[in-house]
Amino acid sequence: MINRLKIPFFCVLSLLFFAWCGAKLFKYFTYHQPPIVTLKGIDDGGFYARQTPCELIANNDYKISTVNVTLDGTQLLSNKVKARQFNVPFSIDTTTLPDGQHTLEVYAVDSSYHSNNATTSYRFIVDNAPLRATFLDSDYTVDQGKTLHMKLQANKKLAHAEVKLFATTYSFYPGSPDSTLYECFIPVDAEERPFEQIITTDIEDPVKNKLSLHANVQVKAFEFKKQKGFNVNADKWAQEKESGIDSKVLKEAMQKWLQESPKHKLWNGPFEYPIEVQRMTTPFGEIRMTPERGRYMHKGIDLINHPKCVTWAAQHGKVIIKDRFVISGNTVVLDHGLGVFTLYAHLEDFADINVGETIKKGSPLGRVGKTGYASGYHLHWELLVNNVSVDPLEWLSKVY
Ligand SMILES: [Zn+2]
Repeated sequence: MINRLKIPFFCVLSLLFFAWCGAKLFKYFTYHQPPIVTLKGIDDGGFYARQTPCELIANNDYKISTVNVTLDGTQLLSNKVKARQFNVPFSIDTTTLPDGQHTLEVYAVDSSYHSNNATTSYRFIVDNAPLRATFLDSDYTVDQGKTLHMKLQANKKLAHAEVKLFATTYSFYPGSPDSTLYECFIPVDAEERPFEQIITTDIEDPVKNKLSLHANVQVKAFEFKKQKGFNVNADKWAQEKESGIDSKVLKEAMQKWLQESPKHKLWNGPFEYPIEVQRMTTPFGEIRMTPERGRYMHKGIDLINHPKCVTWAAQHGKVIIKDRFVISGNTVVLDHGLGVFTLYAHLEDFADINVGETIKKGSPLGRVGKTGYASGYHLHWELLVNNVSVDPLEWLSKVY
C-alpha cells in the first residue's frame, strides 16, 4: 500500500522537475528582452561637482551576467553580478576631471542564450569652478513710478538668482539664451514710499554653490501733478457700466497670464509709441479726483491724434486680452515676456487679432476710441512690469 503511493508521488515530483527544467530551458533560448539597469546619481544633461555618489540598480526578468561602466571611453567599473536584482554603489570624483561635458556609458549583458545586452549613455557636465558674480552697478536710484533695472555678470550659467523687494521675489534672467549677463526688472509703484536700503540678491549655480550680492537702492519721490476738470458724462458712464465686463475680471485675468509669461524677452530693441502721437494729454501718475472713482492716480499715458486712428503693437508680443471692460473699454493686452505687458484702452474696435496669437511690433491692434471711462477720443497706454504700472516713456528712450 505504501509502495503503491510512493511510486505515483515520485512520478509527479519527477514530472514537475522536468517541467521546471523545460521552462527554464525554454526561457534561456527564447528570452529577447534587453536588460534594464538604472543609474541613480547622474542625470542626462545634469551638472556635477566634487564627489558624486552613484548607484546601479537592476530588477530584471532575466539574470544579468555582467555590467560595465565607462567614463569617456575608459572603464570605470566591471562587475560580474550574475543576478536579476542588484544594487552596485560607486562614486565619481569629478575633481579629477576637467570642467565641461563628459559621457558615462552603462553596458549590461544577460546570461541567456542570446546574450541580450543594452548600453545607456549619460552626458553630464562637470563644473568645479567657483561661482563668481558681480552687479554692474552697486548703486541704483530710481523715481517712484519707474522701473528698476538691475544687471549682474556671472562667470557661468546660474540655476537661479532672486531678489526680494516690496514683499515680492523677482528673478534674474539671462539677457539672451547663452548669456551669463543676468537682468531683473523691478517695478516701483508710483505710490511706493521713498526709501533707501541695501537689498540682497541670492544666487545659486547648478552645482549648488551659493553667493549673496548686495546693492544700495534708493527710491526717490516724484512730484506727480494734479489734474483738474476731468469728467465723464453721467449718461455715457451709465451706458459703459452696462456694456463692459467688470474691471476686476481684467485684473484677475492679467494675474493668471503673469504666471505664464515667458522667461525670456519676446521684445527686441526699444518699445515704440503705439500711435502716431499728436500730443500727450495726460502724463503718467497724474492725480485725479472724480465723482465716480474718487481720488486715483492715472497709471498710464493718454495719447491723441485724430479720432479712430490706428493703434499698433509697441513691441513684439503675445495677445493675452482682447475684451470690453467697464473702465478701460475695448482693451488689448500684450505679453512681451519676463512679465512685461502693454495695455491699450478705450479702443473703438479691434483689428483681426486673437488671444494667444504672437504678433510683431507695429501690428495693428484696433482704432483709437472712447469706450469705457473716457471723456473723448484718446489712447490710454500702460506698460506693466509684474502687473505694476510704470512710466512707459522710459521704455521708449532706453533699450532694455
Ligand atoms: Zn488714461
